[in-house]
Amino acid sequence: MTADDLACRAETLREQIRYHNYRYYVLDDPVVSDAEYDALLRELRALEEAHPELVTPDSPTRRVGAAPGEQFARVQHSVPMLSLANAFDEEGMRAWRDRALKLLGDDARLAFVDEPKIDGLAITLTYVDGVLVRGATRGDGETGEDVTANLRTIPSVPLRLGSFAALEGEQQPYAPPARIEVRGEVYMRIADFQHLNEQLAAAGEKVAANPRNAAAGSLRQKDPSVTARRPLRFFAYGIGQIDGPRPQSQWGLLQFLRALGFPVNQDARRFDDFDDALAYCREWMARRDDLEYEVDGMVVKIDSIAQQEELGAVGRDPRWAIAFKFPAREATSRLLDIVVNVGRTGVITPNAVIAAVNIGGVTVRNASLHNADYIAERDIRIGDYVTVKRAGDVIPYIIGPIVARRDGSERPWTMPATCPVCGTPLERPTGEVAYRCPNFGICPAQITRRIEHFVSRGAMDIAGVGEKQVQLFVERGWVQDVADLYLLTAAHFDGVEGYGAKRVANLLAAIEESKNRPLHRLIIGLGIRFVGEVVAQILADRFGSLDALAAASAAEIDALEGIGPAIAASVAEYFARPEEQALVEKLKRVGVRTTAAGPAIAPRGESLAGLTFVITGTLPSLSREQASALILAHGGKVSGSVSKKTSYLLAGADPGGTKYNKAQELGIPLLDEAGLLAMIGANDSGHAAPPATDSTTGAPQQLALL
Ligand code: NAD
Repeated sequence: MTADDLACRAETLREQIRYHNYRYYVLDDPVVSDAEYDALLRELRALEEAHPELVTPDSPTRRVGAAPGEQFARVQHSVPMLSLANAFDEEGMRAWRDRALKLLGDDARLAFVDEPKIDGLAITLTYVDGVLVRGATRGDGETGEDVTANLRTIPSVPLRLGSFAALEGEQQPYAPPARIEVRGEVYMRIADFQHLNEQLAAAGEKVAANPRNAAAGSLRQKDPSVTARRPLRFFAYGIGQIDGPRPQSQWGLLQFLRALGFPVNQDARRFDDFDDALAYCREWMARRDDLEYEVDGMVVKIDSIAQQEELGAVGRDPRWAIAFKFPAREATSRLLDIVVNVGRTGVITPNAVIAAVNIGGVTVRNASLHNADYIAERDIRIGDYVTVKRAGDVIPYIIGPIVARRDGSERPWTMPATCPVCGTPLERPTGEVAYRCPNFGICPAQITRRIEHFVSRGAMDIAGVGEKQVQLFVERGWVQDVADLYLLTAAHFDGVEGYGAKRVANLLAAIEESKNRPLHRLIIGLGIRFVGEVVAQILADRFGSLDALAAASAAEIDALEGIGPAIAASVAEYFARPEEQALVEKLKRVGVRTTAAGPAIAPRGESLAGLTFVITGTLPSLSREQASALILAHGGKVSGSVSKKTSYLLAGADPGGTKYNKAQELGIPLLDEAGLLAMIGANDSGHAAPPATDSTTGAPQQLALL
């Protein structure tokens, strides 16, 4: 490239980035994913590094955010509000630490504070004589927007500073400084964000792409009463200007903020050792899916404020802190088509076919669109650019269209009138969101899905039989229901390409072997709505045979601990259908064991009688299945959700998530695997005493005071 070409490219990148900054920071309505934006910024940075003469003073690599929007008064920040440099792996983190050491001198002793990087927007709050007088956004780092009226509506933003805790060694509650600027993040929880999007979609308004944009859009409203209706939250992590003594460490600063009455993230931790600080980041990455809010990384800060001051900032980033970014979860892509799938109960689900896109290292080509209402409410059209999310074990799904990128060629979509597989007109039962193919038990797609479910790992686990084989069996008409699998013989496979004698023998042996699976696996395999592993285990344990379960009334099932009315009704309805009764008979006829193996879980004691456990997280040695079998064997009960009736939450290391939070809310004690084993082993005759450890271990540890 010639020098002119390079200059031209740099200018194009700057223009694009400025435009995206404006869409993101001012309109709260980005048109590209963060990953795409980051790629542009990276390219510009690399260009500017290689050719420093191309750097302009207003380059987006030198500045944070975007200039404040017009609808708000401007606020000059007394101390600039900076951004954070990023690292994407441990190598990047070590390079950051080494740079800091080089500047401070190799013999400098460093300590670190890790804080979750909740994805929201930075704000600053000014208090004079303990009263909130102004709140502002970060804007371009120098000048922000005055959003005081809006911030006042957020319940967790203190209007008046308190003296909620006395500092260590002092009797008197701490008196707030005469003037202080507190910095932190306004954010929205995932569940609140989803709920808000549902409301917006139902009202025909534009949905937000993610909790961060929803929080920013909600805070930057002209009318504070709109902000007041949005479920915004706040947490504090820093201080700008302060009249009075400043805490000497980041760790002390967090406690200081807490003592003044600010919400401070409970999960911040201080480390003397960098490897421990990194390990904590890794731990958080693993916990990411269990959290109630989006975390896009961890912020690691050098603890000593004196060292922070010595390190200072370079451009828009402080040198004393870094964001350890987690892999991206969202991307933008083109919606190429919408196809419908027929599920095992006849439910028709629309699925998106999208242009291949990499999300956090995985290539995604298909994504869920949930149901027809979802598509209609969000006005998702074929040809749209869409935001796609892939998080944890959840199937990637489309969040919504990027309306600003439409060129007029997009086509609205409607649900087909008939089943794409068997041609039967689709029905939509009143009150349900789903369309269904009513050709139950006959539609080949439904048969295929039911059999796929039956043979799957979590159910009957028949090795060598997967989607391809099931398709073959159904297409050839060999198998109409799950019991037909057991009627397959070697003769069926005569002349079928790819099915040699050995393969067929293995396949038939695997099918034969599955006849003796534990009863609960068979119950899972039937594919009854709402019946997963925990429920199936409870049913198998209580009724002992498929016949007894089929004969049970909804009321009898409902009476079981851990089973609610919806599950009970679904089970009773299933067995009331003549075709399912016939299936139970047929399963028996073909030799599938429909009773608990004599008995599958032999009672081994009553030490847990009367106690109900909920299991969450990964236990150190027992699988969840083993733990629940153990509890049942000792007379206890296992439930899938935490309620007032729960006796213990059996949790793995670092519990988090909904079950954990609910348990905390209800004051349900936590138990670890060792505690459970102690209860069983220590006292088999009566109720074992709970373990001696604090029942609330796992609660965020109290911060040591200044
Ligand atoms: P950033 O979000 O990567 O990091 C800085 C921010 O982290 C701070 O300003 C603060 O708001 C936040 N933060 C959260 N917890 C914190 C804690 N404990 N301590 C300190 N800070 C904490 O940087 P940025 O400059 O605000 O934004 C860059 C991000 O925005 C990138 O992820 C980029 O992809 C995205 N972006 C996207 C678009 C787009 O069009 N998609 C446009 C602009 C920016």
